[in-house]
Amino acid sequence: MRQVSPESEHIYDLIIKLYKDCKGDWKGLQQKTGISDDDLNHFLHYATQFLANGGNYKGFGDSKFMPRISKQDLKSLCSNDNVTLIMYEQVKDAMYADVDVAKMHLGYPDGGHVSTYYPDSPNITTEEITIVSEFLDSKGLLPENTRLKKVEGGNFELLLASSETAPSRLDIKETKLTLEGKLAGKTVTFKYGDHSKQMKTVAEAMREAQKYAGNEHEEKMTGEYASSFETGSQEAFKDAQRHWIKDKGPVVECNIGFVETYRDPHGIRGEWEGFVAMVNKERTKAFGALVDAAPELIPKLPWSKDFEKDKFLAPDFTSLEVLTFAGSGIPAGINIPNHNDIRQNEGFKNVSLGNVLNSKGANEKIPFIKESDLPIYEKLREAAFEVQVGLHELLGHGCGKLLQETEPGVFNFDHKNPPLSPITNKPITTWYKPGQTWGSVFSSIGSSYEECRAECVAMSLCCDFPTLKIYGFGDGSKDINGEAGDVLYAAYLSMARAGIAALEFWDPKSRKWGQIHMQARFAILQTFLSAGPEFCRLDYMKGDLSDLTIFLDRSKILSEGRPVVNLLLQKLGIYKSTADVEAGTKMYQEITHVNAFWAEKVRPEVLRQKQPRKVFVQSNTVIGEDGNVKLVEYESTCEGMIKSFAEREYI
Ligand code: ZN
Repeated sequence: MRQVSPESEHIYDLIIKLYKDCKGDWKGLQQKTGISDDDLNHFLHYATQFLANGGNYKGFGDSKFMPRISKQDLKSLCSNDNVTLIMYEQVKDAMYADVDVAKMHLGYPDGGHVSTYYPDSPNITTEEITIVSEFLDSKGLLPENTRLKKVEGGNFELLLASSETAPSRLDIKETKLTLEGKLAGKTVTFKYGDHSKQMKTVAEAMREAQKYAGNEHEEKMTGEYASSFETGSQEAFKDAQRHWIKDKGPVVECNIGFVETYRDPHGIRGEWEGFVAMVNKERTKAFGALVDAAPELIPKLPWSKDFEKDKFLAPDFTSLEVLTFAGSGIPAGINIPNHNDIRQNEGFKNVSLGNVLNSKGANEKIPFIKESDLPIYEKLREAAFEVQVGLHELLGHGCGKLLQETEPGVFNFDHKNPPLSPITNKPITTWYKPGQTWGSVFSSIGSSYEECRAECVAMSLCCDFPTLKIYGFGDGSKDINGEAGDVLYAAYLSMARAGIAALEFWDPKSRKWGQIHMQARFAILQTFLSAGPEFCRLDYMKGDLSDLTIFLDRSKILSEGRPVVNLLLQKLGIYKSTADVEAGTKMYQEITHVNAFWAEKVRPEVLRQKQPRKVFVQSNTVIGEDGNVKLVEYESTCEGMIKSFAEREYI
């Protein structure tokens, strides 16, 4: 919260104090203080959003939000206890709307925005931040756990998060450096001990956890974490990450630290986060079986073995269930560490968070699915999603071969007798030249294109009944009306629906897609539609499309759906394999083009039916009298949300 706004910690304290004042009996507090039902509700909703976002700015969007309860009524709510009232007086101005519009957003201080990564430094300029950052980078200092302050005389202080104020281990020996260039003569003084109280608590917990390490990597990891939080050494933190990636497939997975750099306007300082998650053993078994079946499944893809690797290598992927995720929001997946040198030379973990992806709100509406399809869709969308995720991550991203001239004159395919392209039936004419990679050739279009390729693999292979059997659906025989057929139908409906909902992430001003996966799903919906209205179409009677639903004929998935998906997949796969960025880009731009109908008719309806962003009520763990760990869960209500935080305080 300290990384969000100066007032966030104090607002948090006020919320928890109010909870303690009334011991969770909000109705009782309402009656004592005489505020209305609506006012109490407004406060509870504000508190819930605040806790979910870890502060009074949105974790996703960085804009400030304010309570709907008036200042006067909030004051009444706080007036039952003198201390609470004083706490209210301290935060009331910061909680409510600023006359200053710029302060409604996190950003660089010289733009008038709020950023506590540059505390008490309203006069620090973006240029100064840039110069100091580049200078420290040139000295080899990693910035994730730092804050930068401008002090008297135009000098700077770099605050480093550590429990020790004079650490025993230093990444850089000097504690004062003199700047060069435009800021020549100005100094940067290193101040250790930022967030020292919190760093001490975390480091102590790590030392305690170390005693229970499951293996050597976990032991070293927890030790390096403790060392990093004690001394502020980011090199120690990197070592912790190195051991973390080597700790493959643990039953309990965790990570903690200054990780993602989205919220620092300069994009280099990390936001504190931590999570604990557990492996879903059932699902892991299915994923393992899928990888084992890869040699039989991959030949079913629409290209010959010339375009496939000799030996299938599954990408690193685990699906976890989150126990707790602390931060400004919960992602649906994690791909860390972010340090490029570790990623390239030592690896990373690619993790999807199953219970985040599959969560649904109590009264969540499902737009665009026909009334008659709702029972099957609601029953099986999670199952269908499981099937889709496994196929997408493991086989989708794992299949296909890049045809390369690895060094001048050396090829990883028979270049004298090149393979035939299944698209043209002629020998291929393009391939990756020495030094070229998939990323360098397809550059900006590449990431969405690759997601589309992986999604198509999933949509193609989920039509295969033996594949569905691996997940425990059906007996492997082709029965579109059986249990496995139901899952397949739910998967196709789900993809079509995602293709419509995707328009939320298309920006009409720039006419660009803002989310690579959603762009990919739009492409696949267009592909379904290309099979003709008897297989898939949009149904509506009203001119404003307010009754828009998807029609999809399940009896035609195998005969019409899979062939059109395969056609798209073949192009995506072959153009990728052969480095044909020209044809690939042209094709992908065409299929993800948003025409007037989709932009002006469908998109407004998508926005109108948009469901609110989810807020997650998380459980706590306590050690029971019998010495075993107990899971304490809470109601998925505003009251439950506040209670879960308040009880976390006591523990
Ligand atoms: Zn993917």
